[in-house]
Amino acid sequence: MKLIWEKGQSGRRGYIPSPTDTPEVSLEQLLGLEYRKEPLDLPEVSELDVIRHYTNLAHQNYAVDSNFYPLGSCTMKYSPKVNEDIARVEQFQNTHPLCEEGILGSIEIMYKTQELLAKISGMAAVSLQPLAGAHGELTGLMLIKAYQKDHNQLRDEIIVPDSAHGTNPASAAMCGFKVVEVKSKGGLLDPEALKKVVSNKTAAIMLTNPNTLGLFEKDILEIGQIVHASGGLLYYDGANLNALLGKVRPGDMGFDVMHFNLHKTFSTPHGGGGPGSGPVGVSEKIAPYLPLPIAVKTATGFALENDKTKRPKSIGKVATFYGSFGVILKAFSYMINLGKEGLTNASEMAVLNANYLKALLSEVMEVPYSEGTLHEFVATASGLDLSALEIAKALLDYGYHAPTIYFPLIVSEALMIEPTETESPQTLDEFAEVIKEILEKVNYHKEAPHFMPVKRIDEVKAARHPILTRAQLQMSK
Ligand SMILES: *Cc1c(COP(=O)(O)O)cnc(C)c1O
Repeated sequence: MKLIWEKGQSGRRGYIPSPTDTPEVSLEQLLGLEYRKEPLDLPEVSELDVIRHYTNLAHQNYAVDSNFYPLGSCTMKYSPKVNEDIARVEQFQNTHPLCEEGILGSIEIMYKTQELLAKISGMAAVSLQPLAGAHGELTGLMLIKAYQKDHNQLRDEIIVPDSAHGTNPASAAMCGFKVVEVKSKGGLLDPEALKKVVSNKTAAIMLTNPNTLGLFEKDILEIGQIVHASGGLLYYDGANLNALLGKVRPGDMGFDVMHFNLHKTFSTPHGGGGPGSGPVGVSEKIAPYLPLPIAVKTATGFALENDKTKRPKSIGKVATFYGSFGVILKAFSYMINLGKEGLTNASEMAVLNANYLKALLSEVMEVPYSEGTLHEFVATASGLDLSALEIAKALLDYGYHAPTIYFPLIVSEALMIEPTETESPQTLDEFAEVIKEILEKVNYHKEAPHFMPVKRIDEVKAARHPILTRAQLQMSK
């Protein structure tokens, strides 16, 4: 696809305003400015050129609203539009956070969202401030650090399993911790291996449960005992709560600190760079350290507690104002719309769909850690005639988003598939048929994709050296 500059023609105009009898004013004279000597390098295009350009760009976007999006670990489920409607209600949209009286209703919703998340997770208190999952991890680790410092404990190691999401070690390093990896056994964390790395330097272990293989860490209580006995804490990566709503709670598993990804499980689409929200939940003893302000219930209603003298241990602010309110609103609407039964049902359907699709794909692909699949599973292309990358690229030609590939690292040629609860059995049947067809036409798909605007791109180079301006484009040619 051409850049908009390449479509331009010298002298072409989109819109020519009608002549006016208002006298012309020179800004140069009026404001004492100097006009630029060269005209600005803008594309010269008609209105139709612009409309087509952006419409075609928009059509190249892929979204859950276009088709199946089985991107493992990302929970690309359909977010009901009613929650978008609620977030767009004028009375919510047109408030300003500095107008404290005008946002009392919003504060009440924040308080109730904190309470609902606490109830779902079994944690004692919740802060809605962090703006993404990784930001929640960083905040949670800052809380752990503050708590341990306050108790004169100098602990500088964070243990992460080899199946961990990449943000876990990254957040730990960002927070100034050393990362210690622990190997899994049979896809699960091995308490014996854990015992070998736990010490009085262990600040915490970061775990997601179900883990990135979609398996429940059945030894979680023993793992908790081992870490707690050494004086360390348990951090729960709750990005993927989609498997356990209404079933088990991180608080009951013994976790001290956790984050949620509202933009995965709770009705905000994930990806595309839109706002996210990564609230943190904590046990009773960590609650005094939570960021301020925090929504509280008062004798007369609801308020934002922001008084550092009342909460001297608070780590302070981690985001401007109070977090992503629009996302919080959608999560609140989603939770009260579904209720406990609906949320439980969503998790059950997510697990059913993952197991259904796993069964279909197991006919043609191996799923190494297949016992006890919850919301997602990891298949391998190892031993097949196409690599995980080639299968992923071929899927694009069939109109599907590719699964997560080459993650988690403990499965070679990994294809990590999370269908989510919002997909019908027909969609899953069709997807499985397409995978089978791809695996039958090996030679053709080695060259895939055939129908995408770009073929195989150097993804690292695209991220490190993006070409975003005309000048960069000219330099690259
Ligand atoms: C998505 C995800 C994260 C990070 O969330 P972001 O909002 O993308 O920062 C962390 N852990 C797991 C397991 C995830 O799936």
